[in-house]
Amino acid sequence: MTEQQHRNKSGFETRAIHAGYEPDAATGAVIPPIYATSTYKQDGVGGLRGGYEYSRSANPTRTALEGNIAALEEGERGFAFASGLAAEDTLVRALCKPGDHVVIPDDAYGGTFRLFDKVEKVWGLDHSPAPVSDLEKVAAAVRPGETRLVWVETPTNPLLNIGDIEALAAIAHDAGALLVVDNTFASPYLQQPLTLGADVVVHSTTKYCGGHSDVVGGAIVVKDLDLAEKVTFHQNAMGAVAGPFDAWLTLRGLKTLALRMDRHCDNAERVVDFLTSHPKVGEVIYPGLETHPGHEVAQRQMKRYGGMVSFRVTGGEQHALQVCERTEVFTLGESLGGVESLIEHPGRMTHASVAGTDLEVPADLVRISVGIETADDLVADLERALD
Ligand SMILES: *Cc1c(COP(=O)(O)O)cnc(C)c1O
Repeated sequence: MTEQQHRNKSGFETRAIHAGYEPDAATGAVIPPIYATSTYKQDGVGGLRGGYEYSRSANPTRTALEGNIAALEEGERGFAFASGLAAEDTLVRALCKPGDHVVIPDDAYGGTFRLFDKVEKVWGLDHSPAPVSDLEKVAAAVRPGETRLVWVETPTNPLLNIGDIEALAAIAHDAGALLVVDNTFASPYLQQPLTLGADVVVHSTTKYCGGHSDVVGGAIVVKDLDLAEKVTFHQNAMGAVAGPFDAWLTLRGLKTLALRMDRHCDNAERVVDFLTSHPKVGEVIYPGLETHPGHEVAQRQMKRYGGMVSFRVTGGEQHALQVCERTEVFTLGESLGGVESLIEHPGRMTHASVAGTDLEVPADLVRISVGIETADDLVADLERALD
């Protein structure tokens, strides 16, 4: 059994706290040091200690994070990057070549869409958007022999659509393509796509994995060693790696992921209960609601439903903007997944760039990232802001 398989047999919380690092042999330090070093002394030419040669190729603090996130996703190998988008770009170049085709979500994270549409496209990679919740449309967008990746997010942003990972993996594999799941919104605590047939997981660890809004980072996890070899080569050849301090912060965040996610979910459920009975709120969008079109799939593949909630107010765009500006505990801002609650108006903020396209979001929509503050304070804050 490999070290990784051994780790995979422990419970999630045990892996979160122990996987990827053994107390330091020299000092017994239980937490990996921040190895602020670019190079390593060799014992004779080519005599590397532990395989470390130069910190773009590998750094012990980053190695600890990479082992940890691989264990949490139940994969074989993890890779840490300077940002989620750096991870995505490295993955695309490792697995695709100019002339290939990929299917992407029609409501992909804006930065992901921009990467495919403005950067990878110039390089020669074509893409087709399809809704992740509609298997027929995803299958129709696949071009057998040409499509190299089916790329999905689930839940998506900000409408929290759900894609059926097992069924999407079958569609990708039938066409000779790989399934990539951006697991940023669920985090490895709520959903492990590799166990459902996905080939690759990508993360913006900036969000729930880091969890404290204090570091930007990304990750890739794979279960197949041939894929791992390609990603290893490209991670080093392209060089968009996580620095040791960023890796250390992200690893520190992952240790408490389970506790934080459970509280995010508890608080989101309280907030959803409150919003669904409020007269000035129209639709509440949350995969945990039985009325959500993806509820059954979410129930099958997620442990719980996460900390992201979207809702529509009855008073139109002006009302939505007012709610965003009136909250005091919820901070007005982009991003998500930190301990603090955030509120935003997707139409004017995160999704302003898709105005006038098929991806336009309703003007009366408000998105919240429910944090881990006292639930009563969050409900009271929204109540004040809605009145
Ligand atoms: C934020 C985000 C990204 C991009 O990650 P960065 O760390 O900002 O580069 C990708 N996918 C999703 C779903 C995100 O929320």
